[in-house]
Amino acid sequence: MWNRRNFLRSLGLASAGLALKPLDSLAQKTAASKNKQALKPIVLSTWRFGLEANAAAWKVLSTKGKALDAVEQGVKVTEADPEERSVGYGGRPDRDGKVTLDACIMDELGNIGSVAALEYIKHPISVARAVMEKTPHVMLTGQGALDFALAQGFKKENLLTDASEKEWKEWLKTSEYNPKANIENHDTIGMIALDASGNLSGACTTSGMAFKMHGRVGDSPIIGAGLYVDNEVGAATATGHGEEVIRIVGTHLVVELMRQGKSPQKACEEAVQRIIKLTRQRGKDLSKIQVGFIAINKQGEHGAYCIQSGFNYALHDTINGNRLIDAPYYLT
Ligand code: ASP
Repeated sequence: MWNRRNFLRSLGLASAGLALKPLDSLAQKTAASKNKQALKPIVLSTWRFGLEANAAAWKVLSTKGKALDAVEQGVKVTEADPEERSVGYGGRPDRDGKVTLDACIMDELGNIGSVAALEYIKHPISVARAVMEKTPHVMLTGQGALDFALAQGFKKENLLTDASEKEWKEWLKTSEYNPKANIENHDTIGMIALDASGNLSGACTTSGMAFKMHGRVGDSPIIGAGLYVDNEVGAATATGHGEEVIRIVGTHLVVELMRQGKSPQKACEEAVQRIIKLTRQRGKDLSKIQVGFIAINKQGEHGAYCIQSGFNYALHDTINGNRLIDAPYYLT
């Protein structure tokens, strides 16, 4: 079971003597008191690299910019960083040595855009946005996505850095596809934001599971799996083993649970529970998988939950600035 006290401590509530209150009643109270004044702007993103990405998003949000622009600007920081080996430039390749990228974006009106298995373009999130804004479609894949990107003026670049190539060559010696539970050979930046006008948007981008089969697509570019936004309710994004997220259409589920009145925290917990149940039902080893969800609602309340320890997320709000929080988890 996850450690509720630690989670409350991370929110700064344990010392206020609130540690024993059930999260839901706490969340309901908070929601009621914030009905008139939502906590906004606010931005939330997955993993440690979310701190830097949030800082870029905050430049947009703090000057009354749109959540859509904030999430795009935010995740572009991670995409451009060759040291981040699981997103964009410098991402680990598939088993054929090709860096293939997945990304999607969604705005407050329900506009969506997505690219999958895109090669040679440093900022797949901006190509996803171009799919959203300039085509009658919502998703382009592989060569078609690349042709579109080039026609839009995106530059063709080699995304395979020496470090990632070296790791791939090392991997080829055994060629065993065995993704670890946490950050070792995958990770996604998923970012969700509520802007000063009270509108929600989200972005999600990744190079996917390292050494995956060529053509494999994870949850990250799939609206409803890796990312979902409903401007009436809230937004959610996911990281971890994409196959498991797709299996439950994870972020759509989180948002629908919030629509039914669940707090973002409770909604993330229930979605993770759904994965746990299916994993056990299918006779698979739960200790080998990791999935993490983060969510916000229209009041600016947030939540996060994952299967096992090690997942953290970055939160930037007007009260406490930008910080990294360890997500509560199921397996101890
Ligand atoms: N969800 C991503 C994928 O399955 C990877 C990750 O977030 O760790 O491609």
